[in-house]
Amino acid sequence: MAVELQPRSAFAIAQRRFDAAADVLGLPDDTRRLLREVKRELTVHFPVRHDDGSVHLYTGFRVQHNINRGPAKGGIRYSPDVTLDLIKALAMSMTWKCAVVGIPYGGAKGGVVVDPRRLSRSELEHVTRRYATEIALLIGPEKDIPAPDLGTTPEVMAWIMDTISMHAGHSVTASVTGKPVEVGGSEGRQEAAGRGVTYLTVEALKYLNLGEETPTVAIQGFGKVGLPAARLLHRAGLRVVAVGDSKGAVYNPDGLDLEALEEHRKVRGEVSGFKKAEDIAGQELFGLPVTVLVPAAVEGQITEHNAPRIRARLITEAANAAIDPQADAILNERGVFVVPDILANAGGVIVSYFEWVQDLQAFFWEEEEINTKLHHVITRAFYEVLHTSVNRQVDMRTAAYVLAVQRVANATTVRGIYP
Ligand code: GLU
Repeated sequence: MAVELQPRSAFAIAQRRFDAAADVLGLPDDTRRLLREVKRELTVHFPVRHDDGSVHLYTGFRVQHNINRGPAKGGIRYSPDVTLDLIKALAMSMTWKCAVVGIPYGGAKGGVVVDPRRLSRSELEHVTRRYATEIALLIGPEKDIPAPDLGTTPEVMAWIMDTISMHAGHSVTASVTGKPVEVGGSEGRQEAAGRGVTYLTVEALKYLNLGEETPTVAIQGFGKVGLPAARLLHRAGLRVVAVGDSKGAVYNPDGLDLEALEEHRKVRGEVSGFKKAEDIAGQELFGLPVTVLVPAAVEGQITEHNAPRIRARLITEAANAAIDPQADAILNERGVFVVPDILANAGGVIVSYFEWVQDLQAFFWEEEEINTKLHHVITRAFYEVLHTSVNRQVDMRTAAYVLAVQRVANATTVRGIYP
């Protein structure tokens, strides 16, 4: 097996995707140089006392890529794989995500280098409150609004909101989204990303008009995005035939009993070993004869190695950067229709936007209203991207970037250069 000498930079990939859109747009050099960098990057090192009295030093980041269209917005990731390079890439991708769906935010991302599963609840709370304090100079409803991402939960958001509020001396609920509903969270926020994935998959299938009565779907990931997506895709009339997690995958061509699978996973901690399906290796999931493939786990899953084996006609890229650029080229050549990440998983940040608006006006909406508004915003974005793709004769990812970069570039130009 070939050894990769140069570890691949997630930010370099993000910049490459931006460059492709900037080329299509013929973006002026000044704007291009500005938008391919991040605006602010804060690195913090801070101590936390663990339950046994020992003191541990943690490293965290908060990066703002661009704030020309509104306050910075983006999740906070807790993972041992967090690096400044990755957070910069994800912050940039948030800028395009917010722009492509037309919500008034810039892009940000944060993270702490930590495996949250190795911490007790109280250690997790201490890491969170200290990290929130360290980045507090950037955070606020008009400045930068964090949300959950990999490894963080509504409870973690409640601690961040409470910490910011303690410093302010009053409750600042709009400083964070993805909170529990009891403290200013929004109905429908938890399933929002999976719901967006479902709306887009249904819309893309309509457009592709494959003539299949019951399209089949394989989903990689059974967590915050994958699980609600599985449930909602099933409810939308698709047959979920395969589900994978970090340990393996299960396959039943007749369709999976999702409730039973959820129960099984709760008990066993993995999907493998489920009686009503066949165990397959995680990688096999990508080569299954399905209509739709939904990578909803982590980045870098679809590569030049497995892309040639993909038989799905549609990929809804639920996880950020699940498909790498080499795989993109292969999929395009093979005529696989891709709904790219910045559009595919935007349901999360769209409902975050609704949550922020509800907090600011202190008036809360019912779930039905949230879902209707989400459907409206994400479906409109899908057709705008599709039209751009057809008119400019570029693939869906480039079209999404073109649309987003154009909007951010316009805002940047119209605001001018200070001073
Ligand atoms: N972490 C999610 C994302 O990558 C949600 C961000 C948010 O709601 O601000 O889109």
